[in-house]
Amino acid sequence: MSTETYEKWYRQDRLPHIYCTGCGNGTVMNCTIKAVDAMGWEIDDTIFISGIGCSSRAPGYITTDSLHTTHGRALAFATGVKMANPDLHVVVFTGDGDLSAIGGNHFIHACRRNIDMTVICMNNMIYGMTGGQGSPCTPVGKISTTTPYGATEPVFDLAELAVAAGANYAARWTSYHVAELIKAIGAGLETPGLSFIEAMVQCPTAYGRRNKLRQVGEQVEYMRSHAMLLAKKARLEEQGKEIPEDMFTVGEFVRRYRPAMGVPK
Ligand code: SF4
Repeated sequence: MSTETYEKWYRQDRLPHIYCTGCGNGTVMNCTIKAVDAMGWEIDDTIFISGIGCSSRAPGYITTDSLHTTHGRALAFATGVKMANPDLHVVVFTGDGDLSAIGGNHFIHACRRNIDMTVICMNNMIYGMTGGQGSPCTPVGKISTTTPYGATEPVFDLAELAVAAGANYAARWTSYHVAELIKAIGAGLETPGLSFIEAMVQCPTAYGRRNKLRQVGEQVEYMRSHAMLLAKKARLEEQGKEIPEDMFTVGEFVRRYRPAMGVPK
């Protein structure tokens, strides 16, 4: 596919973007655009919606109509858009703080209602734009401005949460796994009902520099080496082997076809 095809999806007059050098959010945006483009969707039939945070600046760079809403409320706005016009393809960009703390209830109930939309969470494991505070996804022991001695609370597993709450599709990959991420987003876009794709991303500014991962490559390598395929985890569990606590699972958690809300007739 030519570069020209993708260029039409970006508001050239808004570039350069505000993301820090080495941020993983741009990779997730590009993966999303490739998946959307491959669906054959039109600019006029697609809308991107976001809340607040670094991830939530993404819709501002995309040519489609977009809504940049309030902190944690992207899914409430997206629900309204989808109910008002079920023919629109609704894609939400969010971050771990926006989605799982401030917007936690909206996330659970959007999954429960199984509303026909795709939610893409750029999980940098911290609040980036709003001050480097710990989020529900900051791993135990990791430093943020609100956990200066290391986070002590267990991490929210967002993909598992989406499955338990009723979403039709859930997957997790990282900004290292570009091909897998594009495929997962594509699968999410074509599955009716709520699709949730969690993309772990490097954040050298807010997270990396506080957690001995100052170089972008170090954090990308950390994600590569600590991502464990769901199938491998199941195999190890079956064999009764211990799984190191700092590993996280990647892959497709669920793909099902429960009745959904807002699916065009
Ligand atoms: S603070 Fe982190 S997530 Fe935000 S733009 Fe910078 S590197 Fe990216």
